[in-house]
Amino acid sequence: MAWTKQEQLYDGKSKRVHTTTSPDHVVVEFKDDATAFNGVKHALIGDKARVNQAISAHLFGKVAEAGVRHHLVEVISDTEWLCEKVEIIPVEVVVRNYCAGSLAKRYGREEGEALPWPLVEYFYKSDALNDPLLGADVAVLFGWAKRWELAFMTEQALAVNDVLRGFWSDLGVDLVDFKLEFGRTADGRVLLADEITPDGSRLWEKGTRKRFDKDVFRRDLGDLGDTYRELYAKVFGEALASA
Ligand code: UDP
Repeated sequence: MAWTKQEQLYDGKSKRVHTTTSPDHVVVEFKDDATAFNGVKHALIGDKARVNQAISAHLFGKVAEAGVRHHLVEVISDTEWLCEKVEIIPVEVVVRNYCAGSLAKRYGREEGEALPWPLVEYFYKSDALNDPLLGADVAVLFGWAKRWELAFMTEQALAVNDVLRGFWSDLGVDLVDFKLEFGRTADGRVLLADEITPDGSRLWEKGTRKRFDKDVFRRDLGDLGDTYRELYAKVFGEALASA
């Protein structure tokens, strides 16, 4: 690694961020913490950090091949990345291929209904407000994102969806929905940031609809550690090494 880790900048629900000797780079560290319902439910899940790091790095590699620029520069350990430093845009971009979660609840629809085309929704990233649904006009009005940034993020999110849908489908898994975050670099580029993990995606095994995502934790459907280790084995074709 070209840069050394310095003080902690931020300690989030599932990741920690440290400054480095480079002003343009940070170290992002994945944590074993699982939270749900805005932090109300919490547990430590062994191996979660390693599984999420490995899967997210793999998926960032896949989307990069499709031309999507992201913040990951280098994997520096089995739980840490060197990343470009970005200011996170407070707009969570959700792409949905099937109706589930808050969409099903909001409109009284069945979970599992296939959508005729991918739906992109924005949510305002605010723990205090519980991430409310966000319209583009409001996002621009309050200065949370520029109009062009919303258009760019939507286009990038749909490109990510095309890649990920195919990737998961080849492994016998339907990509129901997922959440992306983007950030701005000091020189004004907008990059895909955060992570692409089963924490922020819904992944349903084709046919059985067995959940391979954080809904296992949110809805008490089983052991999240076992689920994530099984997903790791699907993705990499071998079991996760013991810690
Ligand atoms: N999601 C997320 N963080 C959030 C809210 C949602 O990663 O703060 C992900 C979630 O895992 C799912 C998708 O975004 O894959 C859509 O979530 P939804 O809006 O249905 O909300 P939920 O049912 O998770 O409250």
